[in-house]
Amino acid sequence: MTTALAIQARQLQRIYQTGTLKVHALRGVDLDVPAGRFVAVKGRSGSGKTTLLNCLGGLDQPTGGLVQVYGRSLAGLNDRQLTLWRQKEVGFIFQSFGLLPTLSAYENVELMLRIAGFPRQQRRDRARRCLELVGLDKWANHRPYELSGGQQQRVAIARALANQPRLILADEATGELDTETTHDILNLFRRIVQEEEVTMLLASHDPLVDEYVDEVILLEDGRIKSPAVLAPNPSC
Ligand code: ADP
Ligand code: MG
Repeated sequence: MTTALAIQARQLQRIYQTGTLKVHALRGVDLDVPAGRFVAVKGRSGSGKTTLLNCLGGLDQPTGGLVQVYGRSLAGLNDRQLTLWRQKEVGFIFQSFGLLPTLSAYENVELMLRIAGFPRQQRRDRARRCLELVGLDKWANHRPYELSGGQQQRVAIARALANQPRLILADEATGELDTETTHDILNLFRRIVQEEEVTMLLASHDPLVDEYVDEVILLEDGRIKSPAVLAPNPSC
């Protein structure tokens, strides 16, 4: 029996060129991630974590190599197709939360569904369900400034889940949180991966994440230093 692959990257390269200066951010990354995994992408600052996540989520175009997400190659998609694909398939979570300050928690989540063109009733149900999932149903009408950092990140997580993406990419998502809140959020990620049947990649340099994830990928200077082909899920 074969396990479906959420991510397949082959010889992924990303070179940034500013003037005459070339930075090789990714130097031939090969990576297979089976569906339903919670994977940490670790490595020092500048090792290529953000670049890798951006290339896998279609926010950035690799200079060379191939990316397939759930069997779909990103190389053939034009900008518009890529935007539509991202809206449907990928949820992004960032360190800085990225919430709109004038909108309530509920409205921040609902806006994503509005952009993706969901009808009103579905938007309402899904936004409520996502806020419930992250334990914020009672805070739905609060604006970001009325919420703690951990609560704001929960809103951002609810927003990332709203479109029911199959892939969640979280870049230093606990970077601004204290230790206790970081544990809470990592527990929440763990539960989401199990309950929502998503695949999650979390870029981080925080040692705390190791005990929550199924697998750790270590990046060093744009190359993978530890297993690039992840073992199939024992439960599959
Ligand atoms: P990490 O997320 O692990 O800190 P990044 O992917 O952000 O690493 O960066 C990898 C390398 O690419 C670094 O040397 C960084 O300076 C460089 N880099 C990242 N983004 C850009 C950019 N937009 N232009 C030029 N160089 C960049
Ligand atoms: Mg980064």
